[in-house]
Amino acid sequence: LVPRLQPFTSTIFAEMTALATRTGAVNLGQGFPDTDGPVGMLDAAKNALFSGANQYPPGPGRPELRAAIAEHRTRYGLHHDPDSEILVTTGATEAIAASLLALTEPGDEVLVIEPYYDSYAASVALAGATRRVVPLTADSDTGRFRLDVDAVRAAVTPATRAILVNSPHNPTGTVFTRAELEALATACVDHDLIAITDEVYEHLVFDDAEHIPLATLPGMAERTVSISSAGKTFNCTGWKIGWVCARPELIGAVKAAKQFLTFVSGGPLQPAVAHALTHELDWVERLRTDLAGKRDRLSAGLAEAGFAVRPSSGTYFVCADVRPLGFTDAADLAWQLPERVGVAAVPVQVFTDHPQEWKHILRFAFCKRDEVLDEAIARLHKLA
Ligand code: GLN
Repeated sequence: LVPRLQPFTSTIFAEMTALATRTGAVNLGQGFPDTDGPVGMLDAAKNALFSGANQYPPGPGRPELRAAIAEHRTRYGLHHDPDSEILVTTGATEAIAASLLALTEPGDEVLVIEPYYDSYAASVALAGATRRVVPLTADSDTGRFRLDVDAVRAAVTPATRAILVNSPHNPTGTVFTRAELEALATACVDHDLIAITDEVYEHLVFDDAEHIPLATLPGMAERTVSISSAGKTFNCTGWKIGWVCARPELIGAVKAAKQFLTFVSGGPLQPAVAHALTHELDWVERLRTDLAGKRDRLSAGLAEAGFAVRPSSGTYFVCADVRPLGFTDAADLAWQLPERVGVAAVPVQVFTDHPQEWKHILRFAFCKRDEVLDEAIARLHKLA
């Protein structure tokens, strides 16, 4: 294995899920739901499978899916030409990798907000670029992790080409505010950066949090590669249908990389996702309400079990500080937890370049049936 990929031989999700399976632990580590998506979407996939949609779809994606994605983006006031401004990919993961491969050269720098989803560091390395991390900072009053745009500006160098932005944010559950995003947009324009936005949790926002695509802000439409995916919105993380929306020059670049990574993606699943985006948004609204309740249930349970729980206003995830329970290293604890009490979680430090600064925090996924969350909470009480 070439040196630049040597840090990426395994993923925390694969390892933690294997450990959870081996020990019979409740798996709140890897984020995936334990119920299926809307029946209409599953039927549409079945129908497509049995009506001949099993050969290569068109390179940019099936027309009905691109039309459905374009229509979906109008909810944010964004207008994309389905033929030249939308590309269907194999999940957001491929979209991120293809964007970095297409838009950065070896030696370019890419800003990454820390903690970061694990594929960002690996994809930057695949492209031969260099990551520079900008940490989120915890608000001293509320514990919310917030974006420090002055730190973003300070991290820019003449080699900086792009910034990866994930909101709603995995693993912290932070949803960036309009003020944070406006400041970020101004920094991107001032420093002529391309923004690659990962919006896979766009529908999973709670309370009064609002998902604001960076591309909607002044000066950003022409410099933003907006990425999302069906997995989180429709409980189908195994389908790996994602998409990129951007101006034609940027889409053309990403398509050039994507066509030699996978060529095309998930033929019979594409019409099903088109159906879901068009007809199942009421189902998504119920999912969102449901997940807000699960966030509350798990947060309250973790607090009762002795953790210091951080606020989460989006995604599937809640972060909790392990120090009130007398532990000093969340990674040590995460590796013991499945054997010790029968619960799996993920240490946030693995998503950072500064493990010391994040070493007290565990991430728990709450996208599980209530009885599963309750069982996990009951088991975690044994830690005290
Ligand atoms: N996105 C999911 C998470 O953060 C897992 C994805 C994966 O297993 N690679 O838990």
